[in-house]
Amino acid sequence: MSTQELKGIIFDIQAFSVHDGPGCRTNVFFAGCPLRCKWCANPENFAGRPHLLYADKVCKWSSGCRACTKICPRGGLIFQDDQQPIINWDVCNKCTTFECRPVCAASALKVCGKEYTVDDVMKILRRDFNHWGSEGGVTFTGGEPLLHYDFLLEVLKRCAAMQIHTAIETSGYAPMERFLNILKYINFAFIDVKNMDDKKHIEGTGVSHKIILENIAALKKSGWDGRLILRQPTIGGFNDSEENAQKLIDFMKKNNLYEINLLKFHRLGQTKWEQMGMKYAYAKTGDVSLEQLQKLQNMYLDNDIVCYVGDSTPF
Ligand code: SF4
Ligand code: SF4
Repeated sequence: MSTQELKGIIFDIQAFSVHDGPGCRTNVFFAGCPLRCKWCANPENFAGRPHLLYADKVCKWSSGCRACTKICPRGGLIFQDDQQPIINWDVCNKCTTFECRPVCAASALKVCGKEYTVDDVMKILRRDFNHWGSEGGVTFTGGEPLLHYDFLLEVLKRCAAMQIHTAIETSGYAPMERFLNILKYINFAFIDVKNMDDKKHIEGTGVSHKIILENIAALKKSGWDGRLILRQPTIGGFNDSEENAQKLIDFMKKNNLYEINLLKFHRLGQTKWEQMGMKYAYAKTGDVSLEQLQKLQNMYLDNDIVCYVGDSTPF
């Protein structure tokens, strides 16, 4: 396949980000993820292709709007007895044409994700280039950027030619050869380690942590000269124990890793889970007290591991 034919599914590109790498950055959000984290803030990414979002709170059905009633050729939208439209997610999750979207003036129906070429992405990066200053650059995030291996590799080669600073936020869940090939072009990496107990990792994310831990260890052994910061979204009852922290500290020390960012639990994804017709598992639980976060932070600091909590980071 020629580089012109390569396509990546991206659900958003945001300029002026300040929390996902050094300086001012442009974030490129890739669609699709091999994990299914139960607290995910971007569940619209799970599918890895464009799909429908329905925002019930802005839907104008109670004002009499029925513009979308007869538009769907597959029965994706169901109106019953003057009630709010029901989305038939079994149908809509397979849709590729989205005839319903243009008729909704209220923007209650939106399509998330679209195809980009490498040139499309580079055009946007060139647009933002002058805003980054001396430290900034581009951060590839998602979803999981590594799912778009060929596309991302080509974008990264073009970034390298322009000396653009590159960062990645990744689950690290990818075949090792691909993971290491991509990381060769990355200056700054955030990799999540969500639980050191593999059974719990599978329960919370749907996959084993084995590949992730092996990839991190291989990256450190490879002579890669970028900066690696581990991240842990800290979820009450899932990975907020001292026991889990101690296992992660042991892993970090064994692999010469000295920076971690404990992210605070939030419910930013809850509305999106609901807009996609799915149940959000952490609607009531998941919070971790400040005291517990400080206790965990002190454990890392006592082991000479720099530990940032939440957004209090120097990047
Ligand atoms: S067209 Fe939009 S606002 Fe109107 S009923 Fe359909 S989803 Fe709701
Ligand atoms: S997303 Fe597709 S299947 Fe669903 S209502 Fe719209 S047009 Fe119909």
